[in-house]
Amino acid sequence: MGLQISVLTIGDELLNGEMADTNTAAIARLLASRGFIVRDSLSIRDIAGDIVGALRYLARRGGVLIVTGGLGPTADDLTAQAAAVAFDRPQETSSEALAQIHRHFARLGMTMHPRNDKQAQLPQGADILPNPGGTAPGFRLCHQGCDCFFLPGVPAEMTAMLEQSILPALAKQAGQAEILHERVLKVFGLSEPKTEALLDAIRLPEGVQVAFGVDFPFVHVKLRISGDTATAHLEQAERLARQTLGDVIFATGTDSLAATVARQLTTAGQTLALAESCTGGLIAKLLTDLPGASAFLERGAVTYANSAKRDWLQIAESLLEQHGAVSAECAVAMAQGIRQTAGTDLGLAVTGIAGPDGGTPDKPVGTVFIALTTETTERVKGYRFPGDRDSVRQLTACMALDWLRRHLNARAQLKKT
Ligand code: ATP
Ligand code: MG
Repeated sequence: MGLQISVLTIGDELLNGEMADTNTAAIARLLASRGFIVRDSLSIRDIAGDIVGALRYLARRGGVLIVTGGLGPTADDLTAQAAAVAFDRPQETSSEALAQIHRHFARLGMTMHPRNDKQAQLPQGADILPNPGGTAPGFRLCHQGCDCFFLPGVPAEMTAMLEQSILPALAKQAGQAEILHERVLKVFGLSEPKTEALLDAIRLPEGVQVAFGVDFPFVHVKLRISGDTATAHLEQAERLARQTLGDVIFATGTDSLAATVARQLTTAGQTLALAESCTGGLIAKLLTDLPGASAFLERGAVTYANSAKRDWLQIAESLLEQHGAVSAECAVAMAQGIRQTAGTDLGLAVTGIAGPDGGTPDKPVGTVFIALTTETTERVKGYRFPGDRDSVRQLTACMALDWLRRHLNARAQLKKT
């Protein structure tokens, strides 16, 4: 059995609907990336008695407890005081914590408000956890076999401290055999059951388990194993899965489809221009979410109305009249129009009906055309995407990115031979 880890998040704002508790998910994600699965979690309000009760209850169960929130200087920050009560220790000023707070203010060129003194009043015997990005130091306390870590609630500070102080401590505690190793293969264009059926047919190395997850519109295949042989067996499992699933796998780990495409474009030195209708700039957004997009993206035009398609993409009125804006002909003309105006290697265009209105019997909601043109080639295809407006737009943007991925893969293969 691996380490038993509980998470406790503290804050009124988490329970009155003001904000979602993202700390628990962030902690669980980071721990899982190192092979630790959180046993359970609890969120409570800024009420001293509740905090004392929750700490006593969770600490009694042993293992590891990670607490976030309530380490600030204001009167509603009660965690350190509650920990002292819960674990029957006096609260005293930690000179180390005080020095850390002073250093933090000195770095910012500010003098410390006397109220920040409070953040150095910690339960006796606590070890200080440095906070590289804020005032409140964290602390660690062992109470009757439970290893308790207290972190500030601010997500960026909390994450930095978790990485810096807690993950190394947990890795030390857990034996190799307890750590769960995971490799995530990301799939686009194959449903979860179909992916599972394909993988059922292969024999994975001993001890490797497969789990599935959906991050719409992607399927995640999670290969997991714990123990000393983990790395070699995971390598082998990934090889087998790749042989079976082929090029529907677009990334591994935390990589995204857009990141994969961005890397391919940069490596190939190919430039891109986009003409988007129903996605309203979503493809451009996904590609520019990542730094460095200027290496390949020349422009992205949102050409929503026919007038925009005429003015910016030089699409003939007669084409629009004859085929309509949602047509293979229009998609190709959009891709050609933007590529020629921009002078890029690639022109990518999407046009479709995202709904809920605008569908017709021969072009229902979800009808989408994607076109990709280069100097010498043009490709266009029509789709009927299922779901609501949001799903249709997501599917369109991801399919368009997947077209780029496949095009650049094929191009790279051709260059090799
Ligand atoms: P501070 O010095 O900022 O007061 P703190 O340790 O007292 O630090 P809190 O006051 O509990 O932390 O939270 C500070 C802010 O961090 C909150 O206003 C909220 O925006 C965010 N926060 C706290 N807990 C969570 C959580 N579980 N999930 C997401 N955000 C959180
Ligand atoms: Mg606070």
